[in-house]
Formats: sequence, structure tokens, C-alpha cells
Amino acid sequence: MIFNQAKINAFRLWGLLLTMLGMGLMVLGTAGIVFWGHAGKVFAAIGLVIGLISMMGSLGIYFWAGMLSTSALQLECPECHKLTKMLGKTDRCMFCRTILTLDPNQANMTPEELQAAQQGQGAQATPHHH
Ligand SMILES: [Zn+2]
Repeated sequence: MIFNQAKINAFRLWGLLLTMLGMGLMVLGTAGIVFWGHAGKVFAAIGLVIGLISMMGSLGIYFWAGMLSTSALQLECPECHKLTKMLGKTDRCMFCRTILTLDPNQANMTPEELQAAQQGQGAQATPHHH
């Protein structure tokens, strides 16, 4: 499931997983003091440090994903017609996970055709309403 996400969604997912891991480690570390007393303090310290690093890492990933999403190419998905963002030359739709590509060798629709379709929808009033 993690690997067939849109890249921005995957970054967010990893950020969330790291936050949960960090919080889990901090909770476990604190629990270590309660259950093992003095011996648990070393375990708690390690847990807190790793937990903190993990949470800072996840913050970095969130920040990075935010930066990336502002520079990401925004386009309408040809499959589900929702506005999605893609990173790099090939990415998946954030909603239906259709693989989108800018590489003409891999595409079954040329960029010109895609652009024409997008411009057509943007400029003209479509007869059917959503
Ligand atoms: Zn889609």
C-alpha cells in the first residue's frame, strides 16, 4: 500500500509513521522507568533520544513534502478528473492512483494532447455540470 501511492502522499505517510514511531518510543521509554525503575532509566533515555530524532525527522519530511507540493506540477487526472499534483516525470494520481507520466515514451497520450484537453476544459464552458 505504501509503495503505490502518489509521491506526496507517500511522504506524508512516512512522516506520520515516523511520528507514531517517535511517540511510541517515548511512551515506551517512559514506561521503562515505571516498570524497571533505575535500570529502565537508560532504556528511557535511549527511547527518548531516538523518539525525538524520529519526530524531528518526520517534521523534516512533512516540511519537505510541503515544499515539494508547492513546486509540484498541478494537473487534472485523466482518469478521475480530480486536480492532483505530481512530482518528477512519473507519479501516481493522489486519488485513484493512476500512473501519470510526462515521459512521451511511456505515455499513451502525448503532452500536446493532454495540454489541449486541459486548455479545452479550462477555456470553454462544458455543457454538463459536476
Ligand atoms: Zn485520478
